Amino acid sequence: MTSPQHHDIVVIGAGIAGATIAHELLERGQTVCIVDSAPQPASACSSHAYAIAHPHVGRGAPRLLRLTRIAFLMAEARWGKVWNQHGIFQPTKKDKVFKLKEVSDYLKTLELGEDVAQALDANQAAQICGIQQSGIWLPRGASLNISSATSEALKPHPKLTCCWSTPVSRLEKLGASWQLFDHQDAPIMTAGKVIIAAALETKSLAASMGVRLPLRPVRGQLSIFSVAANTVWIEKLPKTALSGDGYCLPTQRMPDGSYRWIVGSSFDEGEADLQDWASSDDFNREQAKGLLNYVEGDTSHLQKVGSFVGVRCVAGDRLPIIGALTQRPGIFLATALGSRGVLWSALAAKLITAQVLEDDFALLTRLGFAADLVAALAPARFFAGALAAAPALGALASNSKPILPSVPRAK
Ligand SMILES: Cc1cc2nc3c(=O)[nH]c(=O)nc-3n(C[C@H](O)[C@H](O)[C@H](O)COP(=O)(O)OP(=O)(O)OC[C@H]3O[C@@H](n4cnc5c(N)ncnc54)[C@H](O)[C@@H]3O)c2cc1C
Repeated sequence: MTSPQHHDIVVIGAGIAGATIAHELLERGQTVCIVDSAPQPASACSSHAYAIAHPHVGRGAPRLLRLTRIAFLMAEARWGKVWNQHGIFQPTKKDKVFKLKEVSDYLKTLELGEDVAQALDANQAAQICGIQQSGIWLPRGASLNISSATSEALKPHPKLTCCWSTPVSRLEKLGASWQLFDHQDAPIMTAGKVIIAAALETKSLAASMGVRLPLRPVRGQLSIFSVAANTVWIEKLPKTALSGDGYCLPTQRMPDGSYRWIVGSSFDEGEADLQDWASSDDFNREQAKGLLNYVEGDTSHLQKVGSFVGVRCVAGDRLPIIGALTQRPGIFLATALGSRGVLWSALAAKLITAQVLEDDFALLTRLGFAADLVAALAPARFFAGALAAAPALGALASNSKPILPSVPRAK
């Protein structure tokens, strides 16, 4: 029997996370093998064509603010060709009083230029965004077809091997390498370094190495509505994307004068059902009214013409898990992208590549990526409790040399 093929770097998962990381590594001259259980890239949550991206500007989450700002700049630079910049408006929450000067001053304290975030009163917003509500205008906010971006990142490259229809069921240490096994427990290949970007399935792959990750599914559905030309809704529809309790993309005028409007999304904790739910469309109709502050709107005029259903993977603390699994040297994780796949995949590409190649930390530091942020995303943040419960893992962990500083627990 011939021994399974060896690759220096293997990425498990060809969604936006795995594809973006593989692409970054290829750009850095590495040879990469990407493995996916599906017959093509972007088959799962990354089949999403209507994702929005903007930095977080809300109060009370300073670390999220720093992380999303860096990640947004990385995503913008990465996806330039397919980046659809149309601006995103965040209406003021209904229970909050908007004071233009106060919000402007707050944005100044964040050192965000006017090209990134501006406070708008209702009249200004009516002119720019087409809705009479105060809020924050993010002119560089954009949308991305995650599916096309994923496929684009994995287009043929002399140093890229793609293994489709190849589910990995477990990993095992073999000397200095890792061996990947299929569901019949036959070895698939060996690898010097393995990046696991398999969304929720990362949990079982990590478990096969004795590592427990707090990952869970959150189902979501976006609804594609048609709004007929003769309804009152037409005057209410925004010119730009909106993000608040839910989000919507800019409307699209169809040849017959009707409008196509994508509104989402539901947030079904612990659910992994990929069926289309009528109740999720109803939920999205209500979100549509909320986004437009159009309480009396007749939702029967929002005719459903399509949908997207996906299952997000989220971690217990709602931050992504990106970084070296230091107690399993040679293993790296990029999962739990939640509802920020566009931003976190761009950040994961830079961070994981820097860790895999062990050479690019100066660049990350220049981008403002300080050690506390690396630690906030590191898999190690979950292991204080897990290690106490499993001394064997603790022994392994203490033998491994952390690549970057880590904290025992996420805040
Ligand atoms: C309704 C909804 C709205 C959203 N809106 C936005 C938005 O506006 N902006 C935004 O940025 N994000 C948004 N997201 C989130 C975004 O879609 C996800 O974060 C992103 O697509 C996740 O990418 P991923 O690569 O981590 O996972 P996936 O795309 O799920 O990829 C994982 C891959 O791993 C493969 N795999 C799994 N197990 C194995 C195995 N054992 N062996 C081999 N291969 C395996 C799978 O086949 C799959 O291809 C939304 C998600 C939903 C559901």
